[in-house]
Amino acid sequence: MSYPTQPTASHFINGAYVEDTGGTPIEVMYPATGAVIASVHAATPAIVEQAITSARAAQGAWSALSGTDRGRILRRAADMMRERNHDLSVLETYDTGKPYQETSVADATSGADALEYFGGLAATLTGEHIQLGEDWAYTRREALGLCVGIGAWNYPTQITCWKGAPALACGNAMIFKPSETTPLCALKVAEILHEAGLPAGLYNVIQGMGEVGGALVCDPRVDKVSLTGSVPTGRKVYAAAAAEIKHVTMELGGKSPLLIFDDADLDNAVSGAILGNFYSSGQVCSNGTRVFVQKGIKEAFLARLTERLGQAVIGDPLDPATSFGPMVSQRQMEIVHSYIAKGVEEGARLVTGGARVEREGFFLQPTVFADVSDDMTIAREEIFGPVMAVLDFDTEEEALARANATEFGLSAGVFTCDLARAHRVVAGFEAGTCFINSYNDAPVEVPFGGSKLSGVGRENAKAAIEHYSQLKSVYVRMGNMEAPY
Ligand code: NDP
Repeated sequence: MSYPTQPTASHFINGAYVEDTGGTPIEVMYPATGAVIASVHAATPAIVEQAITSARAAQGAWSALSGTDRGRILRRAADMMRERNHDLSVLETYDTGKPYQETSVADATSGADALEYFGGLAATLTGEHIQLGEDWAYTRREALGLCVGIGAWNYPTQITCWKGAPALACGNAMIFKPSETTPLCALKVAEILHEAGLPAGLYNVIQGMGEVGGALVCDPRVDKVSLTGSVPTGRKVYAAAAAEIKHVTMELGGKSPLLIFDDADLDNAVSGAILGNFYSSGQVCSNGTRVFVQKGIKEAFLARLTERLGQAVIGDPLDPATSFGPMVSQRQMEIVHSYIAKGVEEGARLVTGGARVEREGFFLQPTVFADVSDDMTIAREEIFGPVMAVLDFDTEEEALARANATEFGLSAGVFTCDLARAHRVVAGFEAGTCFINSYNDAPVEVPFGGSKLSGVGRENAKAAIEHYSQLKSVYVRMGNMEAPY
């Protein structure tokens, strides 16, 4: 049976689509209906081998090009992604269930931003000259070699571009393994890069579950691994990469705090809490799911939040009017539902939502709990769904200490009209990505990443260059060399 979303083949290797039906079949579902919309095969060992061999063969000549030449191809790909934004967004909506209202502005467009930004940066990558009296030294900024990217299912197009663009700009080859839940969009990015002129072998996409990712990570011919995923997977991948001292970037989970002070602009704070909890049905790593609200503003906040959530348009994600879609899968919906049950069981007050939406597909209502205490499961564990926990606080000092009392450190935000306090609080946050009177902005110009269990390394911005290249130092003696004997 063939579906409109069925890709030409499962994998994209050495500049072309490749199939190997010997691999385990993976069915792709449209989360809004549960209908199977495509089917691919997991990579067999032969496919993994083909991808690694072709990537290694192509990388040397690519890194020998000038940065300007490499960058031109990435910038061309960025333009093509923008031209095809509608089709790419529709496909992303089928793959993830996220509303077209979101995918049309936050997925292919964000991927295009990364290709454009790193395409522009490629020509600026240099080493430095260091004068040492008569002698001198210089550094060469060199590619790492073969980079592997492994992605989560919430932002498939964005994740593949956020990893691929800096890798290619620095002269590396990349093999990307999407999540088995969302295998479709990375193939389109590969197609576009090659149409834009990328030589064959430099950007390969292979499908599969964790074991395919594991095979890539363990291969000695792979020099770097960049993972976007959960902390448990991060631990495994980091440990496997450590065996060969590979470079790593880990973009992992979070349970980020959002502090709302009495003096905050109420509607701005509610907007921040909505965006930081319900965008992409809450399936965003950096979400501010622990919303600490100062006692003086708490009831007004909850009332306004409930009223605004009533305006969410829940429905067919392909309808541009829809602003809230389903969870990515039945499994994820069940996980989130079980957290909601735990919230009720542990005594949190259910303010709104809490149930499945009466329609086909994997929909859950936007859910808000109030009177949540720090020790409740819903305040400690990453839920990765549309569940907000509202906690009360009295003082700045108390709120900051409680905000930091977590093993995660991805993001944190503060809403207040007192600017001195805003900067003081942000300086105190133990988190990699912070927001003042805003939440979840992720422009490519700004480094993105976490501290503590939320990860190592940074994506985006000039900071990403450090994670996709290495320095070689060269000492040059101008006079005679002396030795003690
Ligand atoms: P998972 O950790 O389950 O999976 C992430 C990827 O790793 C998938 O492609 C998965 O394959 C693969 N994988 C699983 N096991 C291994 C292994 N042993 N070796 C190599 N690869 C493996 O995460 P989800 O896909 O469920 O995504 C949700 C998580 O991602 C959340 O915790 C979220 O916070 C985090 N995330 C972090 C972001 C960030 O930038 N910090 C952004 C987005 C999400 P498969 O699933 O196909 O088996």
